[in-house]
Amino acid sequence: STDAALAPLEFAVTKNLAAKSAAQREELLRDPVFGTTFTDHMVDICWSVGGGWHRPRVQPYGPISLDPAAAVLHYGQEIFEGIKAYRHEDGSVWTFRPEQNGRRLQRSARRLALPELPVEYFIQSLRELIAVDGAWVPSGADQSLYLRPFMFAKEAFLGVRPANKVAYYLIASPVAAYFKGGAKPVSIWLSEDYARAGKGGTGAAKTGGNYAASLLPQAEAYEQGCDQVVFLDQNGDVEELGGMNIVFVYKDGTIVTPQSDSILEGVTRESLLQLARDRGHKVEGRHVSLAEWREGVASGEIVEVFACGTAAVVAPIGTLKGADFIDEQPTGSLALSLREELTDIQYGRREDRHGWLLRL
Ligand code: PMP
Repeated sequence: STDAALAPLEFAVTKNLAAKSAAQREELLRDPVFGTTFTDHMVDICWSVGGGWHRPRVQPYGPISLDPAAAVLHYGQEIFEGIKAYRHEDGSVWTFRPEQNGRRLQRSARRLALPELPVEYFIQSLRELIAVDGAWVPSGADQSLYLRPFMFAKEAFLGVRPANKVAYYLIASPVAAYFKGGAKPVSIWLSEDYARAGKGGTGAAKTGGNYAASLLPQAEAYEQGCDQVVFLDQNGDVEELGGMNIVFVYKDGTIVTPQSDSILEGVTRESLLQLARDRGHKVEGRHVSLAEWREGVASGEIVEVFACGTAAVVAPIGTLKGADFIDEQPTGSLALSLREELTDIQYGRREDRHGWLLRL
């Protein structure tokens, strides 16, 4: 890769003089609520046409000032990532396959006409934040520090074209176990009136607009008494949930997951499928129609359905509800067993045979 010879950035570090005390932090880490508490610092790197990536900083966490004409506020030129830092038993802090998230941020950048942050800088940004805020990585069971890298168009300009000034930021939020009292099966609402992505659209990119478009169908899911929403493409093939990929387990042990240009390629899914392959399962990425799903469940051909992503890791699907049907889903043991194997690797309780972990 052309990134190979890149020298590391020199971050200017400004410590937060109002950082939380150890006692305040411990209190906040006791039972953190996802996305509401943030660490004491944040990282930012500027980019401009001509200037490239410059002014790398670690600064106190806090509001950022933006020109009201900043392009992101008008045309949504924005992308983000989600990755976790895990504390191992010996106190060390690790992250999981960060080069995968770094490369996905680059793919998202390409689609949104944003500059590609070198993967080395991406990983360095994680290290810089952990260097100052490492104490915020919780040590409780299934707890972690959720890292949120993001990039947006900050140029003050109302013309519709790629911005000449861009900001990359990294913030972090401690998170507790996603499921309290075990992973109970989730119920899924089938969105038939709304799509998440279209052919040639931005479905494969992690960009804010995709999530904005999922809010109304997600609200519909809640009204229907469901936890999550699943989207179909224009051909009636299954895509994914609002923020998780979907996986089907067949009677003969084959594992099938939707593959298309409009699905976000999850790092969790890819990793679980690798663990399944290691166990001898056959794995297929292909189109799965709603009919195949429903008929497969009815006939017993499909024996398990689960969703997966960084936040929940694995969520077994218990029910699929549509406008005129409710299908109870079969529940098996593969999803939770793969979940345990993956989290054992992430938390350093099992050998990392694929070299997925990186010490921060
Ligand atoms: N699909 C969507 C739409 C998502 O937002 C996410 C979460 N990033 C995923 C799938 C799962 O991806 P990952 O396993 O990398 O978290």
